[in-house]
Amino acid sequence: MKTRRDFIKISALGTAGVAIAAGSISKVKASSLFSFDEKKPLDDSKFERTPTYCEVCFWKCAGWTYSTTDGDITKIIGNETDPHCNGRLCPRGTGGVGMFHDKDRLKTPLIRVRKEDGKSVFKEASWDEALDLVASKMKAIADKHGPESMALFNHGSSGKHFGHLLKAYGSKNIVAPSYAQCRGPREVGFTATFGAGVGSPEPTDIRDTKCMVLIGSHLGENMHNGQVQEMSDAIDRGACIITVDPRYSTAASKSKFWLPIKPATDLALLLAWIHVIIYEELYDKKYVEQFGFGFDQLKEHVKNMTPEWAYGITTIKPDVIRKTAKEMGNASPATIIHPGRHATWYGDDTQRSRAIAILNGLLGSWGRRGGFYFKESFSLPHYPTPEYPKTDWGWKETLNGKYPLAGLSVSNALIDASIPENNHKHQIKGWIVSGTNLPLTMPDTETLVKAMDALEFMVVCDTMPMEITGYADVVLPECTYLERFDDIRSSPHREPNIALRAPAAKPKYDSKPAWWIAKQLSNKLDLGHFFPWDNYSEVIDWQLQELGSSLDEMMVIGVKKFERESGGLYLRDGEDYEFNTNSGKIEFYSSDLAALGFDPMPKYTKHPEPPSGYYRLIYGRAPMHTFSRTANNQNMVDLMDKNKVWINPKIAKIWGLENGQEVWLENQDGVVSSSPINVRITERIRWDSIYMVHGFGHSNKQLTKAFRKGASDSELITNVMVDPIMGGTGMRGNFVTFLTEDPGKENEA
Ligand code: SF4
Repeated sequence: MKTRRDFIKISALGTAGVAIAAGSISKVKASSLFSFDEKKPLDDSKFERTPTYCEVCFWKCAGWTYSTTDGDITKIIGNETDPHCNGRLCPRGTGGVGMFHDKDRLKTPLIRVRKEDGKSVFKEASWDEALDLVASKMKAIADKHGPESMALFNHGSSGKHFGHLLKAYGSKNIVAPSYAQCRGPREVGFTATFGAGVGSPEPTDIRDTKCMVLIGSHLGENMHNGQVQEMSDAIDRGACIITVDPRYSTAASKSKFWLPIKPATDLALLLAWIHVIIYEELYDKKYVEQFGFGFDQLKEHVKNMTPEWAYGITTIKPDVIRKTAKEMGNASPATIIHPGRHATWYGDDTQRSRAIAILNGLLGSWGRRGGFYFKESFSLPHYPTPEYPKTDWGWKETLNGKYPLAGLSVSNALIDASIPENNHKHQIKGWIVSGTNLPLTMPDTETLVKAMDALEFMVVCDTMPMEITGYADVVLPECTYLERFDDIRSSPHREPNIALRAPAAKPKYDSKPAWWIAKQLSNKLDLGHFFPWDNYSEVIDWQLQELGSSLDEMMVIGVKKFERESGGLYLRDGEDYEFNTNSGKIEFYSSDLAALGFDPMPKYTKHPEPPSGYYRLIYGRAPMHTFSRTANNQNMVDLMDKNKVWINPKIAKIWGLENGQEVWLENQDGVVSSSPINVRITERIRWDSIYMVHGFGHSNKQLTKAFRKGASDSELITNVMVDPIMGGTGMRGNFVTFLTEDPGKENEA
């Protein structure tokens, strides 16, 4: 079906790129998933060293970029003093240089034009022309519908600059899919319990833990650098790792216990663990007595949730449930039930995260050595700019009274509010999209496309011709993180610390930094007074001076640590402490959830099973890739160029499948993967599930290294179970079967 916003191939992309920098990734070992970059001495006299922090994933490790005097970037290494990485970048971090060299990068602004035959094409434009168009469309939307009708979808550092612009323009509809499609439920679940979310990086005290439980969290494949390093050390020290996963993940292979749970039953296992820990008195009695609220109700609630009860649901044997609960209890309080990261599974995800938080509370882990430490961050001084205008409505109004505990804006709700037929009182009419490839990020592609088709205007700013650019009216080429200043990184950790990102080279082609783009737009929107700087380095220098440092100093050291001001990392024995909950205690019984009519304590609900001949679709991460954003990076492609579908040998036999064979996946709603995927037959996955790495199956030909490499899980996720508490999209309720013949689908974008 042709729509107003039909997908356009970006075909007129300026000059050819330069070759990939020699030797940038060949020095990275891919053989061990726990390996990091090798630090090779460099002859400093031949290179310039510029501080940066990595943008390949959200962990934001600080490092040094090495560039030649003629502006070529050759290598990135970790900054020794950075607590996020301790001087060691992961394979993706060192491979980040591939983003700079990628010849498929967006090179010049593009504007959608209609040809006589009705088809849309992109034409190259000057920055002035493109930004004039963006500003005029934004003005028109503000005049016609109010500025609140513009929304920003963003991920990564650039979003901050567009966020500032949008707030100055008069809209607070700013959203990142990393909330409702990823970590939102755990933030709400932990906040309901401890009065504090987990945040990023997670304050898990893995370096001193004696027992860590990973439930659907595959550290080592989701390469959260500092955590993985600490986990490696903890394993060497003999810490007990318990991994719950239907798949024998890398973490499972390093664990004392692997519990290959039946998918969708994790909450039953967590409740059975709570039962054992309470009824076998393995909990931290003194801690629970001092800090707990609702313990008696919880005890009564889980009375019948015995390991025998859970066995029938989870397929995990009662003695294994008891044994693992004892391991946790014996190690208490140096026990971590890891909160995980991507927590949007089945729509009851806040409650599952609550169960995880409750277990940690019972074991006395919060605020204790080897459990969770009290993190501290630095508030950056606010560069003086005018107050933002007041808005008539914001993202909360787009929720239509649903998802009462959503702490941040909900992308799926903003998408729904962009579809006129949904008759939202508050409608979104225009999008700015910065650094997020929504077609491979959001579930339910059909709804997403419907929303984009209805928009009056959409501008996309990205470094690469991601699928989202094909739906834009205007495409703005952003330079990579290695070519720009961004905000100072100030993240919570054991010690407050800051890190600087400065450009190591001039932006390639006609790409520009987001701060520059936002500033130019502000001038065209008569909002220049919100951007009273010529170069963003002025803002950074001003903030640093306020903190007693300077840009000059940070260019030399890259990372600066500060003394803690809020007290110790852990609770002291007998210390009085008030949690930020209604009761001031750790709420095993959530007064907030009860007041809102939700279950105050988590309950297990049975989720639908796969129909006959279908298998549950499970997706995850690979250590050398970050979602779809790295699939075209030559350095990462060298390590892994496509995903495969993991299939249990029993199922492969039934279907007559062979290793390496191409299949197409068809989901329960008849949606077939646009591209085929190779079979990997392995005992490492349960018979009732299949597994694939997320982020592959790109459909845009201009991503020459990623085009049709593997299949996209996102397009197969059409059944979405929304968490009624905070709006997160549960995405693990989809089932697929195999097509061994090419369905002949016309997929080429
Ligand atoms: Fe970069 Fe790896 Fe650190 Fe992520 S974990 S920020 S990809 S070095």
